[in-house]
Amino acid sequence: MNDRRRLLILSVLVLSGVSFAAVAVTAYHLAPAEAKLVQRPLAESLRFAVGSTAVVVFAGATLLLRASQPFIRRLQESEAQTRAIVEAAVDGLITTDDRGIVCSFNPAAERLFGYSAAEIVGQDVVVVIQRQEPVGGDDASSTRRSSAGGRRVTSGVEATGRRRDGSTFPVELSIGEHHQGERPMQTTVVRDITDRKQADDRTRAHMERLQSVTESLEAKAAELARANQELDDFTYVASHDLKEPLRGISSYCGILLEEYQTKLDDNGRRMMSTLVALCRRLDDLIDDLLTYSRAGRAPECADTDLDEVLDGVLETLGPAIDARGGVVRRLDILPRVEADPTLLGMVLSNLISNGLKFNDHDPPVVEIGCLEGEPLTIFVRDNGIGIAEKHHEAVFAMFRRLHGRQKYEGTGAGLSIVRRIVERHGGRVWLESSLASGSTFFFTLPPARRTVAEPPRRGELVLGAAGQGR
Ligand code: ADP
Repeated sequence: MNDRRRLLILSVLVLSGVSFAAVAVTAYHLAPAEAKLVQRPLAESLRFAVGSTAVVVFAGATLLLRASQPFIRRLQESEAQTRAIVEAAVDGLITTDDRGIVCSFNPAAERLFGYSAAEIVGQDVVVVIQRQEPVGGDDASSTRRSSAGGRRVTSGVEATGRRRDGSTFPVELSIGEHHQGERPMQTTVVRDITDRKQADDRTRAHMERLQSVTESLEAKAAELARANQELDDFTYVASHDLKEPLRGISSYCGILLEEYQTKLDDNGRRMMSTLVALCRRLDDLIDDLLTYSRAGRAPECADTDLDEVLDGVLETLGPAIDARGGVVRRLDILPRVEADPTLLGMVLSNLISNGLKFNDHDPPVVEIGCLEGEPLTIFVRDNGIGIAEKHHEAVFAMFRRLHGRQKYEGTGAGLSIVRRIVERHGGRVWLESSLASGSTFFFTLPPARRTVAEPPRRGELVLGAAGQGR
Protein backbone atom coordinates (compact mmCIF):
# COMPACT_ATOMS: atom_id res chain seq x y z
CA MET A 1 0.00 0.00 0.00
CA ASN A 2 1.48 3.38 -0.92
CA ASP A 3 1.57 6.52 1.22
CA ARG A 4 -1.26 8.24 -0.65
CA ARG A 5 -3.61 5.36 -0.02
CA ARG A 6 -2.61 5.13 3.64
CA LEU A 7 -3.24 8.85 4.02
CA LEU A 8 -6.67 8.53 2.43
CA ILE A 9 -7.72 5.66 4.70
CA LEU A 10 -6.45 7.51 7.77
CA SER A 11 -8.39 10.66 6.79
CA VAL A 12 -11.59 8.66 6.25
CA LEU A 13 -11.19 6.93 9.64
CA VAL A 14 -10.50 10.16 11.54
CA LEU A 15 -13.32 12.04 9.80
CA SER A 16 -15.75 9.19 10.47
CA GLY A 17 -14.71 9.14 14.18
CA VAL A 18 -15.08 12.90 14.48
CA SER A 19 -18.48 12.93 12.80
CA PHE A 20 -19.68 10.04 14.94
CA ALA A 21 -18.50 11.77 18.15
CA ALA A 22 -20.11 15.08 17.11
CA VAL A 23 -23.42 13.37 16.31
CA ALA A 24 -23.33 11.46 19.63
CA VAL A 25 -22.70 14.62 21.70
CA THR A 26 -25.42 16.56 19.90
CA ALA A 27 -27.92 13.71 20.26
CA TYR A 28 -27.19 13.43 23.97
CA HIS A 29 -27.87 17.10 24.56
CA LEU A 30 -31.01 17.09 22.54
CA ALA A 31 -32.36 13.89 24.10
CA PRO A 32 -35.78 14.09 26.02
CA ALA A 33 -35.63 15.14 29.70
CA GLU A 34 -36.58 11.78 31.26
CA ALA A 35 -33.51 10.12 29.67
CA LYS A 36 -31.15 12.45 31.52
CA LEU A 37 -30.38 13.31 35.10
CA VAL A 38 -29.98 17.07 34.47
CA GLN A 39 -32.47 18.99 32.39
CA ARG A 40 -31.03 22.00 30.42
CA PRO A 41 -32.83 24.64 28.33
CA LEU A 42 -32.72 23.99 24.52
CA ALA A 43 -30.52 27.02 23.72
CA GLU A 44 -27.92 25.98 26.26
CA SER A 45 -28.02 22.37 24.99
CA LEU A 46 -27.46 23.59 21.44
CA ARG A 47 -24.55 25.81 22.51
CA PHE A 48 -23.07 22.95 24.43
CA ALA A 49 -23.48 20.58 21.46
CA VAL A 50 -21.84 23.08 19.07
CA GLY A 51 -19.00 23.69 21.53
CA SER A 52 -18.31 20.03 22.13
CA THR A 53 -18.55 19.29 18.39
CA ALA A 54 -15.96 22.03 17.78
CA VAL A 55 -13.70 20.49 20.41
CA VAL A 56 -14.13 17.03 18.88
CA VAL A 57 -13.45 18.39 15.38
CA PHE A 58 -10.39 20.29 16.59
CA ALA A 59 -9.11 17.18 18.38
CA GLY A 60 -9.81 15.10 15.26
CA ALA A 61 -8.06 17.60 13.00
CA THR A 62 -5.06 17.71 15.32
CA LEU A 63 -4.97 13.92 15.43
CA LEU A 64 -5.25 13.74 11.64
CA LEU A 65 -2.47 16.28 11.20
CA ARG A 66 -0.13 14.46 13.58
CA ALA A 67 -0.89 10.99 12.26
CA SER A 68 -0.55 12.06 8.63
CA GLN A 69 2.70 13.97 9.21
CA PRO A 70 5.09 11.06 8.30
CA PHE A 71 3.06 10.25 5.18
CA ILE A 72 3.02 13.88 4.07
CA ARG A 73 6.76 14.16 4.70
CA ARG A 74 7.46 11.05 2.71
CA LEU A 75 5.25 12.28 -0.12
CA GLN A 76 7.04 15.62 -0.13
CA GLU A 77 10.43 13.88 -0.19
CA SER A 78 9.40 11.62 -3.02
CA GLU A 79 8.02 14.59 -4.95
CA ALA A 80 11.27 16.52 -4.39
CA GLN A 81 13.26 13.50 -5.54
CA THR A 82 11.15 13.14 -8.69
CA ARG A 83 11.55 16.87 -9.37
CA ALA A 84 15.33 16.63 -8.91
CA ILE A 85 15.51 13.67 -11.31
CA VAL A 86 13.40 15.48 -13.89
CA GLU A 87 15.49 18.65 -13.56
CA ALA A 88 18.84 16.88 -13.64
CA ALA A 89 17.96 14.40 -16.40
CA VAL A 90 20.30 14.47 -19.39
CA ASP A 91 17.45 13.46 -21.69
CA GLY A 92 14.50 15.68 -22.38
CA LEU A 93 11.32 14.78 -20.48
CA ILE A 94 7.98 15.97 -21.79
CA THR A 95 4.63 15.19 -20.20
CA THR A 96 1.54 15.51 -22.37
CA ASP A 97 -2.17 14.95 -21.78
CA ASP A 98 -4.51 12.80 -23.87
CA ARG A 99 -4.82 15.58 -26.51
CA GLY A 100 -1.06 15.88 -26.89
CA ILE A 101 -0.89 19.18 -25.01
CA VAL A 102 2.42 19.68 -23.18
CA CYS A 103 1.99 19.75 -19.39
CA SER A 104 5.67 19.77 -18.36
CA PHE A 105 8.98 20.39 -20.12
CA ASN A 106 12.20 19.75 -18.20
CA PRO A 107 15.46 21.78 -18.45
CA ALA A 108 17.09 19.15 -20.68
CA ALA A 109 14.16 19.50 -23.09
CA GLU A 110 14.61 23.27 -22.95
CA ARG A 111 18.28 22.87 -23.96
CA LEU A 112 17.40 20.33 -26.64
CA PHE A 113 14.70 22.37 -28.37
CA GLY A 114 15.67 25.94 -27.42
CA TYR A 115 12.22 26.71 -25.97
CA SER A 116 11.63 27.62 -22.33
CA ALA A 117 9.11 25.52 -20.41
CA ALA A 118 6.84 28.57 -20.10
CA GLU A 119 6.75 28.93 -23.90
CA ILE A 120 5.90 25.35 -24.66
CA VAL A 121 3.62 24.23 -21.81
CA GLY A 122 0.05 24.42 -23.03
CA GLN A 123 1.05 23.94 -26.69
CA ASP A 124 0.64 20.89 -28.91
CA VAL A 125 3.68 18.58 -28.65
CA VAL A 126 3.99 18.49 -32.48
CA VAL A 127 5.58 21.94 -32.20
CA VAL A 128 8.74 20.14 -31.03
CA ILE A 129 8.29 16.49 -32.06
CA GLN A 130 7.08 15.19 -35.39
CA ARG A 131 6.42 11.52 -35.65
CA GLN A 132 5.53 9.27 -38.54
CA GLU A 133 3.25 7.10 -36.46
CA PRO A 134 1.01 7.96 -33.53
CA VAL A 135 1.80 6.22 -30.25
CA GLY A 136 0.32 2.76 -30.35
CA GLY A 137 0.67 2.62 -34.15
CA ASP A 138 2.82 0.10 -35.92
CA ASP A 139 6.17 1.77 -35.70
CA ALA A 140 9.48 0.76 -37.16
CA SER A 141 10.81 -2.66 -36.26
CA SER A 142 13.18 -1.11 -33.72
CA THR A 143 10.21 -0.09 -31.54
CA ARG A 144 9.86 -2.15 -28.37
CA ARG A 145 6.84 -2.40 -26.11
CA SER A 146 6.83 -3.43 -22.49
CA SER A 147 4.72 -3.08 -19.38
CA ALA A 148 6.17 -1.68 -16.17
CA GLY A 149 3.94 -1.83 -13.09
CA GLY A 150 0.88 -2.12 -15.30
CA ARG A 151 1.90 0.96 -17.32
CA ARG A 152 2.69 0.65 -21.03
CA VAL A 153 6.13 1.76 -22.16
CA THR A 154 7.03 2.13 -25.84
CA SER A 155 10.73 2.62 -26.51
CA GLY A 156 13.01 2.93 -29.52
CA VAL A 157 10.58 5.18 -31.43
CA GLU A 158 12.46 7.34 -33.92
CA ALA A 159 11.10 10.78 -34.70
CA THR A 160 12.19 14.25 -35.80
CA GLY A 161 12.81 16.99 -33.26
CA ARG A 162 12.25 20.62 -34.27
CA ARG A 163 14.22 23.37 -32.54
CA ARG A 164 13.01 26.90 -31.93
CA ASP A 165 15.14 28.14 -34.86
CA GLY A 166 13.33 25.70 -37.18
CA SER A 167 16.23 23.29 -37.56
CA THR A 168 15.45 19.59 -37.20
CA PHE A 169 17.37 16.68 -35.73
CA PRO A 170 16.76 12.96 -35.21
CA VAL A 171 15.46 11.88 -31.80
CA GLU A 172 14.64 8.61 -30.14
CA LEU A 173 11.58 8.50 -27.89
CA SER A 174 10.60 6.29 -24.96
CA ILE A 175 6.96 6.86 -24.13
CA GLY A 176 5.44 5.86 -20.80
CA GLU A 177 1.66 5.94 -20.44
CA HIS A 178 0.09 6.72 -17.03
CA HIS A 179 -2.94 8.42 -15.46
CA GLN A 180 -3.39 11.63 -13.56
CA GLY A 181 -6.65 10.99 -11.77
CA GLU A 182 -8.86 9.61 -14.50
CA ARG A 183 -6.93 11.41 -17.22
CA PRO A 184 -4.55 9.40 -19.47
CA MET A 185 -1.15 11.06 -19.75
CA GLN A 186 2.16 10.34 -21.49
CA THR A 187 5.67 11.07 -20.33
CA THR A 188 8.15 11.01 -23.19
CA VAL A 189 11.93 10.68 -22.78
CA VAL A 190 13.56 12.43 -25.75
CA ARG A 191 17.14 11.60 -26.72
CA ASP A 192 19.12 13.39 -29.43
CA ILE A 193 20.56 10.65 -31.69
CA THR A 194 22.36 12.88 -34.19
CA ASP A 195 25.78 11.39 -33.31
CA ARG A 196 24.48 7.85 -33.51
CA LYS A 197 22.82 8.51 -36.87
CA GLN A 198 26.00 10.09 -38.22
CA ALA A 199 28.04 7.10 -36.98
CA ASP A 200 25.48 4.77 -38.61
CA ASP A 201 25.77 6.72 -41.86
CA ARG A 202 29.57 6.55 -41.70
CA THR A 203 29.47 2.81 -41.01
CA ARG A 204 27.02 2.31 -43.88
CA ALA A 205 29.26 4.34 -46.21
CA HIS A 206 32.29 2.26 -45.12
CA MET A 207 30.38 -0.95 -45.64
CA GLU A 208 29.31 0.15 -49.11
CA ARG A 209 32.89 1.10 -49.97
CA LEU A 210 34.13 -2.22 -48.59
CA GLN A 211 31.49 -4.03 -50.56
CA SER A 212 32.49 -2.31 -53.80
CA VAL A 213 36.21 -2.96 -53.12
CA THR A 214 35.41 -6.62 -52.39
CA GLU A 215 33.38 -6.85 -55.57
CA SER A 216 36.14 -5.32 -57.68
CA LEU A 217 38.70 -7.61 -56.01
CA GLU A 218 36.49 -10.58 -56.73
CA ALA A 219 36.15 -9.49 -60.33
CA LYS A 220 39.95 -9.09 -60.59
CA ALA A 221 40.50 -12.49 -58.96
CA ALA A 222 38.06 -14.07 -61.41
CA GLU A 223 39.83 -12.33 -64.30
CA LEU A 224 43.20 -13.51 -63.00
CA ALA A 225 41.90 -17.05 -62.58
CA ARG A 226 40.59 -16.94 -66.15
CA ALA A 227 43.93 -15.63 -67.43
CA ASN A 228 45.78 -18.32 -65.46
CA GLN A 229 43.47 -20.95 -66.84
CA GLU A 230 44.09 -19.72 -70.39
CA LEU A 231 47.83 -19.73 -69.75
CA ASP A 232 47.62 -23.25 -68.35
CA ASP A 233 45.60 -24.40 -71.34
CA PHE A 234 48.10 -22.77 -73.68
CA THR A 235 51.06 -24.34 -71.84
CA TYR A 236 49.39 -27.71 -71.93
CA VAL A 237 48.54 -27.56 -75.62
CA ALA A 238 51.91 -26.06 -76.59
CA SER A 239 53.84 -28.64 -74.58
CA HIS A 240 51.72 -31.42 -75.90
CA ASP A 241 52.21 -30.28 -79.50
CA LEU A 242 55.96 -29.76 -78.98
CA LYS A 243 56.41 -33.35 -77.91
CA GLU A 244 55.40 -34.75 -81.26
CA PRO A 245 58.14 -33.11 -83.45
CA LEU A 246 60.62 -33.59 -80.62
CA ARG A 247 59.96 -37.31 -80.64
CA GLY A 248 60.68 -37.27 -84.41
CA ILE A 249 63.93 -35.33 -84.03
CA SER A 250 65.01 -37.57 -81.17
CA SER A 251 64.36 -40.79 -83.07
CA TYR A 252 66.11 -39.50 -86.22
CA CYS A 253 69.12 -38.54 -84.08
CA GLY A 254 69.15 -42.07 -82.67
CA ILE A 255 68.97 -43.56 -86.17
CA LEU A 256 71.72 -41.25 -87.43
CA LEU A 257 73.94 -42.23 -84.51
CA GLU A 258 73.39 -45.93 -85.06
CA GLU A 259 73.28 -46.26 -88.82
CA TYR A 260 75.65 -43.52 -89.90
CA GLN A 261 78.24 -44.06 -87.19
CA THR A 262 80.89 -45.09 -89.67
CA LYS A 263 80.19 -42.17 -91.96
CA LEU A 264 80.61 -39.60 -89.18
CA ASP A 265 83.93 -38.51 -87.78
CA ASP A 266 84.52 -38.17 -84.01
CA ASN A 267 83.36 -34.61 -83.99
CA GLY A 268 80.14 -35.52 -85.83
CA ARG A 269 79.45 -38.41 -83.43
CA ARG A 270 80.06 -36.18 -80.39
CA MET A 271 77.66 -33.58 -81.79
CA MET A 272 75.03 -36.21 -82.50
CA SER A 273 75.34 -37.56 -78.91
CA THR A 274 74.91 -34.03 -77.55
CA LEU A 275 71.86 -33.61 -79.78
CA VAL A 276 70.31 -36.80 -78.36
CA ALA A 277 71.02 -35.64 -74.77
CA LEU A 278 69.54 -32.22 -75.53
CA CYS A 279 66.42 -33.82 -76.99
CA ARG A 280 66.09 -35.91 -73.83
CA ARG A 281 66.46 -32.82 -71.68
CA LEU A 282 63.92 -30.90 -73.76
CA ASP A 283 61.57 -33.84 -73.39
CA ASP A 284 62.00 -33.73 -69.59
CA LEU A 285 61.35 -29.99 -69.54
CA ILE A 286 58.20 -30.40 -71.63
CA ASP A 287 57.03 -33.19 -69.33
CA ASP A 288 57.52 -30.92 -66.33
CA LEU A 289 55.62 -28.13 -68.06
CA LEU A 290 52.75 -30.53 -68.72
CA THR A 291 52.80 -31.67 -65.08
CA TYR A 292 52.89 -28.07 -63.90
CA SER A 293 49.88 -27.08 -65.99
CA ARG A 294 48.02 -30.21 -64.83
CA ALA A 295 48.79 -29.32 -61.22
CA GLY A 296 47.01 -26.00 -61.74
CA ARG A 297 43.69 -27.64 -62.53
CA ALA A 298 41.02 -27.99 -59.84
CA PRO A 299 41.99 -30.97 -57.67
CA GLU A 300 39.50 -33.83 -57.41
CA CYS A 301 39.28 -33.76 -53.63
CA ALA A 302 38.05 -36.69 -51.58
CA ASP A 303 38.45 -38.01 -48.08
CA THR A 304 42.00 -39.31 -48.39
CA ASP A 305 44.15 -41.38 -46.06
CA LEU A 306 47.53 -39.69 -46.32
CA ASP A 307 49.23 -42.78 -44.95
CA GLU A 308 47.91 -44.84 -47.83
CA VAL A 309 49.15 -42.22 -50.28
CA LEU A 310 52.59 -42.39 -48.64
CA ASP A 311 52.53 -46.21 -48.89
CA GLY A 312 52.05 -45.91 -52.65
CA VAL A 313 54.78 -43.27 -53.03
CA LEU A 314 57.31 -45.31 -51.06
CA GLU A 315 56.48 -48.38 -53.10
CA THR A 316 57.11 -46.48 -56.35
CA LEU A 317 60.28 -44.83 -55.04
CA GLY A 318 61.47 -48.08 -53.42
CA PRO A 319 64.04 -49.08 -56.08
CA ALA A 320 65.50 -45.56 -56.26
CA ILE A 321 65.73 -45.33 -52.46
CA ASP A 322 67.43 -48.72 -52.25
CA ALA A 323 69.86 -47.79 -55.04
CA ARG A 324 70.78 -44.68 -53.10
CA GLY A 325 70.99 -46.66 -49.81
CA GLY A 326 68.53 -44.18 -48.27
CA VAL A 327 66.52 -44.47 -45.09
CA VAL A 328 62.95 -43.19 -44.87
CA ARG A 329 61.36 -42.87 -41.43
CA ARG A 330 57.68 -42.36 -40.72
CA LEU A 331 57.47 -40.47 -37.45
CA ASP A 332 53.69 -40.27 -37.12
CA ILE A 333 50.57 -41.91 -38.41
CA LEU A 334 49.44 -39.35 -40.96
CA PRO A 335 45.88 -37.96 -40.80
CA ARG A 336 43.00 -38.20 -43.23
CA VAL A 337 42.75 -35.13 -45.43
CA GLU A 338 40.40 -33.61 -47.97
CA ALA A 339 42.62 -33.81 -51.03
CA ASP A 340 43.33 -35.24 -54.45
CA PRO A 341 45.35 -38.44 -53.72
CA THR A 342 47.21 -38.43 -57.06
CA LEU A 343 48.36 -34.82 -56.66
CA LEU A 344 49.31 -35.41 -53.02
CA GLY A 345 51.39 -38.38 -54.11
CA MET A 346 53.30 -36.01 -56.42
CA VAL A 347 53.98 -33.63 -53.52
CA LEU A 348 55.33 -36.36 -51.23
CA SER A 349 57.27 -37.99 -54.05
CA ASN A 350 59.00 -34.71 -54.99
CA LEU A 351 59.94 -33.81 -51.43
CA ILE A 352 61.21 -37.29 -50.53
CA SER A 353 63.27 -37.61 -53.74
CA ASN A 354 64.78 -34.17 -53.18
CA GLY A 355 65.68 -35.10 -49.59
CA LEU A 356 67.59 -38.10 -50.84
CA LYS A 357 69.02 -36.41 -53.93
CA PHE A 358 70.41 -33.22 -52.37
CA ASN A 359 72.17 -35.19 -49.70
CA ASP A 360 75.85 -36.10 -49.23
CA HIS A 361 75.33 -38.12 -46.07
CA ASP A 362 75.67 -41.84 -45.83
CA PRO A 363 72.99 -42.92 -45.40
CA PRO A 364 70.75 -40.07 -46.53
CA VAL A 365 67.79 -39.96 -44.15
CA VAL A 366 64.32 -38.57 -44.83
CA GLU A 367 61.68 -38.33 -42.08
CA ILE A 368 57.97 -37.74 -42.58
CA GLY A 369 55.58 -36.65 -39.86
CA CYS A 370 52.96 -34.15 -38.92
CA LEU A 371 52.73 -31.33 -36.39
CA GLU A 372 50.23 -31.18 -33.57
CA GLY A 373 47.50 -28.55 -33.62
CA GLU A 374 45.91 -26.48 -36.35
CA PRO A 375 46.22 -26.14 -39.26
CA LEU A 376 46.99 -29.67 -40.26
CA THR A 377 50.70 -29.55 -41.14
CA ILE A 378 52.83 -32.30 -42.70
CA PHE A 379 56.61 -32.12 -42.82
CA VAL A 380 59.38 -33.86 -44.77
CA ARG A 381 62.80 -33.51 -43.16
CA ASP A 382 66.20 -34.56 -44.49
CA ASN A 383 69.81 -34.55 -43.32
CA GLY A 384 70.98 -33.18 -46.69
CA ILE A 385 73.05 -30.26 -47.92
CA GLY A 386 70.57 -27.62 -46.75
CA ILE A 387 69.48 -24.38 -48.44
CA ALA A 388 70.81 -20.92 -47.57
CA GLU A 389 68.09 -18.68 -46.18
CA LYS A 390 68.30 -16.22 -49.08
CA HIS A 391 67.14 -19.00 -51.46
CA HIS A 392 64.17 -20.18 -49.38
CA GLU A 393 61.69 -18.45 -51.66
CA ALA A 394 63.59 -18.75 -54.93
CA VAL A 395 63.64 -22.56 -54.90
CA PHE A 396 59.87 -22.57 -55.45
CA ALA A 397 60.22 -20.66 -58.75
CA MET A 398 59.74 -22.61 -61.98
CA PHE A 399 62.99 -24.09 -63.40
CA ARG A 400 65.00 -22.44 -60.65
CA ARG A 401 67.98 -24.56 -59.54
CA LEU A 402 70.77 -23.85 -57.07
CA HIS A 403 73.16 -26.45 -58.46
CA GLY A 404 74.52 -27.59 -61.79
CA ARG A 405 73.05 -30.67 -63.44
CA GLN A 406 76.44 -32.39 -63.34
CA LYS A 407 76.24 -32.56 -59.56
CA TYR A 408 72.50 -33.04 -58.97
CA GLU A 409 70.11 -34.08 -61.73
CA GLY A 410 66.84 -32.29 -62.35
CA THR A 411 64.95 -29.59 -64.20
CA GLY A 412 64.08 -27.26 -61.32
CA ALA A 413 60.31 -27.74 -61.68
CA GLY A 414 59.64 -30.08 -58.72
CA LEU A 415 59.16 -27.53 -55.95
CA SER A 416 57.07 -25.17 -58.08
CA ILE A 417 54.77 -28.11 -58.85
CA VAL A 418 54.64 -28.90 -55.10
CA ARG A 419 53.69 -25.32 -54.27
CA ARG A 420 51.05 -25.21 -56.99
CA ILE A 421 49.38 -28.40 -55.81
CA VAL A 422 49.40 -27.39 -52.14
CA GLU A 423 47.98 -23.95 -52.94
CA ARG A 424 45.28 -25.46 -55.14
CA HIS A 425 44.24 -27.39 -52.02
CA GLY A 426 44.01 -24.16 -50.04
CA GLY A 427 47.23 -24.84 -48.12
CA ARG A 428 50.69 -23.31 -48.08
CA VAL A 429 54.21 -24.65 -48.25
CA TRP A 430 57.44 -23.34 -46.73
CA LEU A 431 60.80 -24.57 -45.57
CA GLU A 432 63.25 -24.28 -42.71
CA SER A 433 66.87 -24.87 -43.55
CA SER A 434 70.39 -23.57 -43.51
CA LEU A 435 73.45 -24.70 -45.40
CA ALA A 436 74.82 -28.13 -44.41
CA SER A 437 72.24 -28.67 -41.71
CA GLY A 438 69.45 -30.42 -43.60
CA SER A 439 66.09 -29.06 -44.68
CA THR A 440 62.52 -29.41 -43.48
CA PHE A 441 59.66 -28.72 -45.87
CA PHE A 442 56.23 -28.07 -44.34
CA PHE A 443 52.85 -27.97 -46.02
CA THR A 444 49.32 -27.52 -44.72
CA LEU A 445 46.18 -29.27 -45.92
CA PRO A 446 42.48 -29.10 -45.07
CA PRO A 447 41.38 -31.95 -42.76
CA ALA A 448 38.91 -34.54 -44.03
CA ARG A 449 35.31 -33.29 -43.78
CA ARG A 450 33.81 -36.45 -42.33
CA THR A 451 36.21 -36.93 -39.45
CA VAL A 452 37.81 -34.49 -37.08
CA ALA A 453 41.54 -34.81 -37.58
CA GLU A 454 42.99 -37.01 -34.87
CA PRO A 455 46.11 -35.71 -33.14
CA PRO A 456 49.20 -37.43 -34.49
CA ARG A 457 50.47 -40.35 -32.51
CA ARG A 458 54.05 -39.68 -31.61
CA GLY A 459 56.96 -42.06 -31.91
CA GLU A 460 59.23 -43.50 -34.51
CA LEU A 461 57.21 -45.88 -36.62
CA VAL A 462 59.67 -47.15 -39.20
CA LEU A 463 63.40 -47.46 -39.41
CA GLY A 464 65.20 -48.53 -42.52
CA ALA A 465 64.63 -48.35 -46.20
CA ALA A 466 61.35 -47.21 -47.61
CA GLY A 467 58.64 -49.60 -48.58
CA GLN A 468 59.14 -51.77 -45.46
CA GLY A 469 55.73 -51.04 -44.00
CA ARG A 470 55.01 -48.99 -40.91
P1 ADP B 1 65.02 -30.16 -59.07
O1 ADP B 1 64.94 -31.15 -57.98
O2 ADP B 1 64.59 -30.69 -60.38
O3 ADP B 1 66.34 -29.48 -59.15
P2 ADP B 1 63.22 -28.63 -57.48
O4 ADP B 1 62.25 -27.60 -57.90
O5 ADP B 1 62.70 -29.81 -56.80
O6 ADP B 1 63.99 -28.98 -58.78
O7 ADP B 1 64.25 -27.91 -56.56
C1 ADP B 1 64.77 -26.66 -56.91
C2 ADP B 1 66.11 -26.46 -56.26
O8 ADP B 1 65.97 -26.36 -54.85
C3 ADP B 1 67.04 -27.63 -56.43
O9 ADP B 1 67.74 -27.53 -57.65
C4 ADP B 1 67.94 -27.54 -55.24
O10 ADP B 1 68.97 -26.64 -55.51
C5 ADP B 1 67.06 -26.99 -54.18
N1 ADP B 1 66.49 -28.04 -53.30
C6 ADP B 1 65.29 -28.63 -53.42
N2 ADP B 1 65.11 -29.52 -52.42
C7 ADP B 1 66.22 -29.50 -51.67
C8 ADP B 1 66.64 -30.19 -50.47
N3 ADP B 1 65.88 -31.10 -49.89
N4 ADP B 1 67.85 -29.90 -49.97
C9 ADP B 1 68.64 -28.99 -50.57
N5 ADP B 1 68.30 -28.31 -51.68
C10 ADP B 1 67.11 -28.54 -52.23
